Amino acid sequence: MSRKTKEVPHLEKFKSIDEINTDIISKMEKTKFIFITGGVISSLGKGVAGASLGALLKSKGYNVSMQKLDPYLNTDAGTMNPQQHGEVFVTDEGSETDMDLGHYERFLDVHLPPHSCFTSGYIYSEVLNKEREGRFYEGQTIQIVPHITDMIKHYILRQTYSYADFGGPDVVIVEIGGTVGDIEGQPFCEAVQELRIQLRPYQSLSIHLTFLPYLKSSGEIKTKPTQHSVKELRALGLRPEIIICRCQEEISLESKAKLSKTCGVFQDCIFTSPDVPNIYMLPEHFKNQAVVEKVCELLQMKSSKEVDIAPLAKFTNSLATLKKQVNIAVIGKYVKQVRQDTKVDKQEGSGEKKPVIYLESYKSVHEALCHAGVKNDAQVEVNYFEYDEFNQRNIKDKLSKFDGVLVPGGFGDRGMDDLIHCIKHVRESQIPFFGICLGLQLAVIEFTRNVLKIKGANSEEFDPDCRQRKENVIYLMGRWYEYRTGQMVYRDEQTQKGGTMRLGLKPCLLNPGTKAYDIYRNTFDEANSKENKVYHYPEVPLRQSVEIYRDAFSNLDEASLTKMEKEIKNKNLMTIYERHRHRYEINPDYHESLTKPSAKGNDYFIISGDAPSFSTGGETLPPHIVEIMELKHHPWHVGCQFHPEFLSRPLRPHPLFLGFIKAAIKFQKSRKN
Ligand code: GLN
Repeated sequence: MSRKTKEVPHLEKFKSIDEINTDIISKMEKTKFIFITGGVISSLGKGVAGASLGALLKSKGYNVSMQKLDPYLNTDAGTMNPQQHGEVFVTDEGSETDMDLGHYERFLDVHLPPHSCFTSGYIYSEVLNKEREGRFYEGQTIQIVPHITDMIKHYILRQTYSYADFGGPDVVIVEIGGTVGDIEGQPFCEAVQELRIQLRPYQSLSIHLTFLPYLKSSGEIKTKPTQHSVKELRALGLRPEIIICRCQEEISLESKAKLSKTCGVFQDCIFTSPDVPNIYMLPEHFKNQAVVEKVCELLQMKSSKEVDIAPLAKFTNSLATLKKQVNIAVIGKYVKQVRQDTKVDKQEGSGEKKPVIYLESYKSVHEALCHAGVKNDAQVEVNYFEYDEFNQRNIKDKLSKFDGVLVPGGFGDRGMDDLIHCIKHVRESQIPFFGICLGLQLAVIEFTRNVLKIKGANSEEFDPDCRQRKENVIYLMGRWYEYRTGQMVYRDEQTQKGGTMRLGLKPCLLNPGTKAYDIYRNTFDEANSKENKVYHYPEVPLRQSVEIYRDAFSNLDEASLTKMEKEIKNKNLMTIYERHRHRYEINPDYHESLTKPSAKGNDYFIISGDAPSFSTGGETLPPHIVEIMELKHHPWHVGCQFHPEFLSRPLRPHPLFLGFIKAAIKFQKSRKN
């Protein structure tokens, strides 16, 4: 929890990136590196396999960190369509990263530090920026080897170095995205093979995760694609010491013997990663095969502590024996896909390609719902809908079997009006509603249109003209205080899109007397009353947070901090920390009308939590940012500007998801009676 990060030694001191790398390596002698590559096909579940390995190593008492290297050319995942690459996961310090980081954090129950994910694009731009600045490369011809590879090594080491205050992690698991053989991935493999030579003996390990197809016609598992993949990997200088085979079930000794001979890997270093009913069961499979014992042997790690999967096993056992079931509709934007190779739907006679549900776009939301379900002894049946599946006529019918509706984050204007009609129905029918980021913004637009009767109310994101009409109930944040830097941030329509949102961990002050406050309070109190006094985000005072989350808050100024502390105490507020990713916000000009009890007896919003407001010396305070809002009299109509899904863990479900699922169970009961 109390991770302190550290920047690399002042760069000017060194003449080249290689020199810096050598310096860091000399300070990181105790840290072991595990490099994971993938072969044969993509979507093998490398992230889950790596995370499972990490969780087991952690249970043996090691301090484990994880890292993902993505070979594509985008600078980060922030601008990528989730339908192509899965959800964009956000870390404490505000990096927009690959969804595998979500698996890492959930399985290991950690908060990953800066540089836990980087892409080729990022590396290339770092090198080219240095070249333009005239640093490090004066007069040299910039080449993939050594300049790009040195920079890749640098960023692998840089994450490790950020743990330097407590001697570095014991193990870093580095996953190289993509499949061996991809052109973009080659510099990464080259960098890793160079780095392995620079590290000491027994300091690194190469694991290759590969696919063993099962041929129904001959009834056998085929090893040939794996042989080719390992051959390719060896040609890149990376000889795997361990092979993990992804296949439907455990493989025979015969297949292992064959793989051992043809791939040059000891037979007892070949393991399987079989298909599992739920991903949290994979660590158990690894434990049964003693994968971690082999890893420790090869890396000469000597912890006498046994691997312990008891907590996770408790979760998976509960998952398998849940007594209740709740049906949740998630209405999103990146859910359904018609793929090129989707079969034409002949059964329904339409002759059209039927879309497939693409679950990866809202991976963390999906997981968070499942975690909260287990805690409530309920199987959460999640049904995904695309926004434009709804129209005014079919809403009631389509939603009739659901106990709760969740609208997750999203961007752009497609299908928004239909979705707003949906939210109206949900509000009026008292169906539990949970709006996340865009979901909150839409709920506020819906309320403004239908209750406050401002028909043209909209977000500047969908209708830029609504600003002139003063109907911009959701507006572009032009200025906010950035806790991390202690600086004011300015934005307008011209600002470039990549990496410029309000990102990462920010504090939020919850107001007593709200549903949000109660559910956080109860969840924290319950967790803290147990023997192991931990909750992933205990109520940390603002000042203390500067120490604990140093990546996220480095520069809160003393005077405002003291003032804020007084206010927190006087109003009995509760400080929570959540991760953000948004450009738009609820317009402060509307706060009063949204929260005004109506003479006609209509429901109204209350602000459950806001962002603490700071200014930099001499500047006026930035506009008020609402973080979470709820309808006063609705059983559960809660929207938050942040993304609580990123902080939910199997054993510590997020309070807001718990509240939502509880409300859904209650609603289901009331319907049945
Ligand atoms: N598009 C909205 C914004 O930028 C919501 C973003 C989100 O849901 N993450 O504010």
